[in-house]
Amino acid sequence: MSTRLRTFKDLALKEGSTVFLRLDLNVPMQDSVISDDFRITASLPTLKYLLEKKCKIIACSHLGRPNGKGFEAEFSLAPVGQKISEYLGCEVLLCPDFLNLGVDKIVSELNSPEQMILLENLRFFSGEKNGTDEFCQKLSSLCEFYVNDAFGTSHRPDASMYGVPLLFPLEKRCAGFLVEKEVRFLEEAFLKPKPPVTAIFGGSKVSDKIQVLERFCNIAQHIIVGGAMAYTFLKVLGKDIGISKYEADKLDLAQKILEYASRRNVKLYFPEDHICAASFEESAESVLCPTADIPKNLMGMDIGPLTLDVYQNIINSSQTILWNGPMGVFEWDSFSLGTKGIAQTLATRSQKAGAIVVVGGGDSAAAMEKYHLKDKVTHVSTGGGASLEFLEGKELPGIKVLKTYY
Ligand code: AMP
Repeated sequence: MSTRLRTFKDLALKEGSTVFLRLDLNVPMQDSVISDDFRITASLPTLKYLLEKKCKIIACSHLGRPNGKGFEAEFSLAPVGQKISEYLGCEVLLCPDFLNLGVDKIVSELNSPEQMILLENLRFFSGEKNGTDEFCQKLSSLCEFYVNDAFGTSHRPDASMYGVPLLFPLEKRCAGFLVEKEVRFLEEAFLKPKPPVTAIFGGSKVSDKIQVLERFCNIAQHIIVGGAMAYTFLKVLGKDIGISKYEADKLDLAQKILEYASRRNVKLYFPEDHICAASFEESAESVLCPTADIPKNLMGMDIGPLTLDVYQNIINSSQTILWNGPMGVFEWDSFSLGTKGIAQTLATRSQKAGAIVVVGGGDSAAAMEKYHLKDKVTHVSTGGGASLEFLEGKELPGIKVLKTYY
């Protein structure tokens, strides 16, 4: 059976249509101040489109992890509403409690095309996680149309992602521009990719990335590994890893990946030198370890310059590249050179050679942001967990309900 993602082209919106818009406005906050508004700016195209169409928008999102037992000031969406209002020049009316306010009252408050409603953090309500019928009914009864533009949450079957859209007829549901773009790049780039294809994996755990590693053994010609997850593999390969972080209970799994890759003729690359430290601290002195083996008293914190050079050469001969996970502890400057070098090489390869470069969400997206390279590659995903599950080949519940099957 074939499927097709439903988009705005499938929706018969008209002036005054009421639209339930699920966004991913789960932005990082520090003392009630937004520290990175990447997810807000990523939501603006859909918001602008609906405002221009003079639709009545009832937007919603979750923020952080409140316990589902009512309002908690630190997780309020008020600063997010303020930011949207600044970007769009419209009034954002924050609705504190849609469950107890009459539906008619909420919609009647919208009386100008320069206004929209933002429901307060859905995770203040236990129904969002539990997906109770009553909760889904209440949310769905607010509007005529359902639009999901929350890619970063699409792997979670929360009420607003899954139960609510199912209560709308299929012809009244669709993906917003961000979800459409995410699906297009994550799917098309690796469905019939232009070879050579390289996948770069890093970050802390092999266990989180086993499935995606396995899948890319069937897609990529080269798989580059860095970050702490490399040490689990190096241990299996009989290297001395000193006191580097690794997963003792995942050695068997790492061994299986090595065997699987070899059966598929996929070349796996691991660090040949390292930047090490004696302790896991920002202030720890960085020590170059020029061989793959690490002395007993040191831990690998970043890939070394020789490894970076090898990895850069592979990137420079690839046409389609996926990056998921940093090469080292890039949050600390002394251990950031590998991640920064990979980020810069990917940007140059994309800009100068037109290679398709897709960066999975989470920490690799944060690195692209940190080095101001986000706009220099084909696509940077807004969803860490969601993009990983998507790339593993899983059907995300929030996306499944937006598809036409034929
Ligand atoms: P993940 O969420 O699995 O993508 O992991 C990202 C985290 O892995 C980042 O916070 C990095 O600081 C961390 N990381 C990367 N390389 C290492 C390493 N060699 N040792 C310890 N942590 C690392």
